[in-house]
Amino acid sequence: MLDVIGIGIGPFNLSLAALIEPTPLRALFLEKREGFCWHPGLALPNSRLQVSPLKDCVTLVDPTSPYSFLNYLALHGRLYSFVNRRDASTSRREFTDYYQWVARRLKTLRFGEEVVDVAPFRDGYRVNTSTTTYLARAVVIGVGVEPKIPACARPLIGNAVYHAADYLERDPPYVGEHVLVVGGGQSGAEIVEHMLSRPVAARITWVTSRTNLFAMDDNSFVNEAYMPGYSRRFHALPLQQRRAIVEHEKLTSDGISVELCNRLYDMLYQRGVEGTLDDSFRLLSGVVLTDITSHNKRWQVDLSGIAAPRNHSILVDRIVLATGFQPRTPPFLQTLLRGAHMEDSLPVVGPDYAVRFDQHMPGPVYLQNQSRLQHGLQSVNLSLVAYRSSLIINSLLGQPFYLDTSDRQILDGYDTSDMPEPGGLDAMPTTQQMAAIT
Ligand SMILES: Cc1cc2nc3c(=O)[nH]c(=O)nc-3n(C[C@H](O)[C@H](O)[C@H](O)COP(=O)(O)OP(=O)(O)OC[C@H]3O[C@@H](n4cnc5c(N)ncnc54)[C@H](O)[C@@H]3O)c2cc1C
Repeated sequence: MLDVIGIGIGPFNLSLAALIEPTPLRALFLEKREGFCWHPGLALPNSRLQVSPLKDCVTLVDPTSPYSFLNYLALHGRLYSFVNRRDASTSRREFTDYYQWVARRLKTLRFGEEVVDVAPFRDGYRVNTSTTTYLARAVVIGVGVEPKIPACARPLIGNAVYHAADYLERDPPYVGEHVLVVGGGQSGAEIVEHMLSRPVAARITWVTSRTNLFAMDDNSFVNEAYMPGYSRRFHALPLQQRRAIVEHEKLTSDGISVELCNRLYDMLYQRGVEGTLDDSFRLLSGVVLTDITSHNKRWQVDLSGIAAPRNHSILVDRIVLATGFQPRTPPFLQTLLRGAHMEDSLPVVGPDYAVRFDQHMPGPVYLQNQSRLQHGLQSVNLSLVAYRSSLIINSLLGQPFYLDTSDRQILDGYDTSDMPEPGGLDAMPTTQQMAAIT
């Protein structure tokens, strides 16, 4: 009987595995793919990590861990040149390479094993994969996200109609092909940029249901929403307020990076200068896809305006659905969560990411990447990945192994009850003092 089994090895459970290593916990992590990948169909040459690379698997919880991005750079002989670039960010390709380096060094990861069933067994769980059965006291679900595909496109998925997640796995557009890109978020923008940069000229129609292409707001104040204190306060709020905040603050996570918006605008401006814009590109805002029908080896796409319901049809050769992602809920997870306490059809997850059950369960079930409405928008991105792992580890151990390294935030939030008394900040021990105490 292991202490914990992690199901799925994406960045979230990879961080957990890295931070578990120095603890006494006996852990195993299972992944259905043959090796570590990070959204490979969207690993475009220009794609950037949208957070600081210090939001790696470990640094914000344990800057001394050997699994930090800085250690990766040092051991690959790139630390000085990375600093010399004067750009604190990195590409998604480099960050994937970092993740793969971490994955190669951890001994608790098993690839090529798909979990098909998890069931209560004695004082824990029996986890069945395609080949083996394992037992553990607790499970951490890290199965991540899957493409969100509009209902009208589902029966047509193939080489000419596909989700952005498969973009690089399909043949590129040929000369003169008319491509429809659906979705005005980061993935749609990255794909349009990629197609505009290719020497082969395709005709692009890009549609978004939003009224414009909105950039991600990640100014320093807004980014305080991606810090531990904010998430803790958010978790304690009533559902209605949490819903309103998630909706209101969507563009702090779901928008297009400002640099990419500006690069795209410039590329289109240059086409205008060359006189090729009108024939090669069209951007339609406030429009939704309503139907797709096959038409002489092409696709007839019906679009409808949101503000002024006006129907519009176009003929295209290929459709790329940059329509976002949704939490993956495989059948074993639906069965396991059947007894979970629900809030508006979503399982309730505690501050330590453990699912709350209405019935007795033999051990904790932790759920990652599915608590946007419980922990806020940070729960679906990399900002607090190490912090989340530390909460899960402390909960598994029943005592703090990792210290809470969260800073005092400048933005005071919805509830001030967790703020120290005036003068209390001085009285609070620093991280180093806490480390010295323990
Ligand atoms: C294209 C893209 C770019 C992103 N870029 C950023 C960014 O720059 N910054 C940021 O903060 N966030 C980003 N995000 C959001 C978020 O950080 C990522 O989605 C991240 O990959 C989530 O990690 P995860 O571990 O939860 O899930 P995933 O990365 O989806 O990994 C889940 C893993 O579980 C495996 N799995 C599923 N079912 C089973 C099973 N039954 N048995 C075994 N294994 C299974 C899957 O094969 C997969 O490898 C991005 C998201 C996307 C889609």
